[in-house]
Order: sequence, then C-alpha cells, then structure tokens
Amino acid sequence: MNKPFDYGERVLLLDSKQRRYLLVLKDGGEFHSHNGFVPHADIVGNHEGLIARSTRGSSYTVLRPTLEDFVVQMPRGAQVIYPKDLAPICMLADIGPGVRVFESGVGSGALSMTMLRWGAEIVGYEIREDFLNRATSNVRSFLGEDAVSRYHVQLRDAYEGIDETDLDRVVLDLPEPWNVIRHAEKALRLGGIFVAYTPSITQAAKVRETLAESRAWNGARTLEVLHRGWHIEGQAVRPDHRMVAHTAFLTTARFLGVHEHAPMAEPLPEVDDLEDLTPQDDVTLDDLERPTLGE
Ligand code: SAH
Repeated sequence: MNKPFDYGERVLLLDSKQRRYLLVLKDGGEFHSHNGFVPHADIVGNHEGLIARSTRGSSYTVLRPTLEDFVVQMPRGAQVIYPKDLAPICMLADIGPGVRVFESGVGSGALSMTMLRWGAEIVGYEIREDFLNRATSNVRSFLGEDAVSRYHVQLRDAYEGIDETDLDRVVLDLPEPWNVIRHAEKALRLGGIFVAYTPSITQAAKVRETLAESRAWNGARTLEVLHRGWHIEGQAVRPDHRMVAHTAFLTTARFLGVHEHAPMAEPLPEVDDLEDLTPQDDVTLDDLERPTLGE
C-alpha cells in the first residue's frame, strides 16, 4: 500500500534528531517549527520516505505513523498502557480476528486500539464518560470506522457485573480487578482467558488469591515485561543508561468452569517445614515462591 499522501491523512515527521511530530494533512495547512514551516501541500502527492524541507532549511522525513507512534502521542485522559505491555497482553490473551473481548476500563483506548488492530470485537465498560468519548475518537481517528463497528463501549461500572455472556476474553486495567473475577466467571465461555494489568504487586497477589479461591481457573501466572534499549554506535555498544524500570504486572489464567472434581489448590507449606520438605519431589520451587498475602 504505497499510495501517495492525501489530505485528511495522518503523517509522522522525523527531524534530524529523530524527534517525532504527528499531524493531519489539511488543505492550506502548515507544519511550523523553530526553523520556518513545511506547507502540507509539499507533502500531499508524495510517497512515504519523502524528505520535506522547511522554509528555513530543516529537513523532515515523512512517514505514515505506526500504532506505536500514535499511542504514545495521542490525546489522552487516563494514563495509557505502553507498547512494551500492549503486545504481550495481546499474546497472553490470544487476541485475533473475531475474538470477543470484555475490556475495562477503556481509559484512553490504547489497549482497545491494539486489540482492535489484532481483529478483536470489544465490549468495553468505563465509568468516565469523557474517557469513553476520548477512547472512541482515538479509535476512529487512527483505525477508522471498521474498528469503531467492532468497539462497543458503555458507561458502566465493571465491579457491578458484566451483562455479556459467552465471551472469549476478559482483559482488565482498573484499580481492583479482583472485584471483576466473579463476574468474569459468568461472562466467559469455558476455556476463556483472563488477563489483568496491575501496577502494584499487591494488586497482582490479590488477583491471584481470588483466582485460587474459586477453583474455576487454571494455569494462573504473573509476569512483568522488562524492555531495555541498547545504544549501538560504532564500538560503543552497550545498554542504554536509562530505561523504564517498571510499568505493571500482567496476571493471566484460563477459565475452566466450576467442576466438582477439580483439584484443590495445594496448601502452601508452613515456613517451619521448609527444611524437611526440600528433598521431597512433590514440592517445587514454584510452590515455595508463590506470593502469599498478609492474613
Ligand atoms: N488501558 C487503558 C487505560 C485504562 S486507565 C489504555 O490503555 O488507555 C483505567 C481506567 O479504568 C480509567 O479510565 C478509569 O476511569 C476506569 N475505571 C476505574 N474503575 C472502573 C470501574 N469500576 N469500571 C469501569 N471502569 C473503571
């Protein structure tokens, strides 16, 4: 799809220092910088990779923005989930064309846009109307009407219940995701997947505890994604000095339904017994390392 740029399209301008500017091409529009301006008319009719020059001689490479370019710069109300976690969430939730997802809250729509991009059909509950409108307009403006037709957002509190049934996935980014687990058990089909994004490990542990209590879930796990950039320039090849050291934990599990004969989660060994347990085969390191909550 290498058609020429046209009015109404969103483009990305990169300057010589790799600074990024997003703009929508308008009839009569101008992109202004400290070094003069680029008339939008100079971009229209050209192809990606164009080097546009400003009136005072700065050069800008012009490309169509990727979803990654857009989500980090789009208008936002709520804090968005960053690309580092967006793609892993889609993998954990096994998002694909036609997959029916319940998402809450929708916030600014960064995660919604990623799942829509991967083909999902989303029902979203969000308690703030301004965020819900913002998310919808972000989806419309970057992904277009086809994506909006697969995006069904409602002004609703997810803690109070989920109306939909037979859903394939429940994906949560809200402060108390454990409050939604009982509702997820009614809304998910058997074999469905639950994913919760939580900034704090105590939230993740509470999600795990709630999942473990119900016996309806299998394979619960919690992970974080570390993303370290590298500086590569001649012989200077080393990790970047700075990195985003923490965003959130991802907790996922599969829904099996409540079975009479489901194995109970094994009780954790008492701390005093740990030494005695070491040589036994039936206690793995995983058991010992499972986080437990206060009481
Ligand atoms: N994942 C989003 C950001 C979500 S921020 C993104 O990538 O853009 C968390 C959102 O949850 C906020 O918008 C907040 O208003 C919403 N929220 C908080 N509690 C909620 C509840 N009980 N039901 C529905 N939405 C809720």
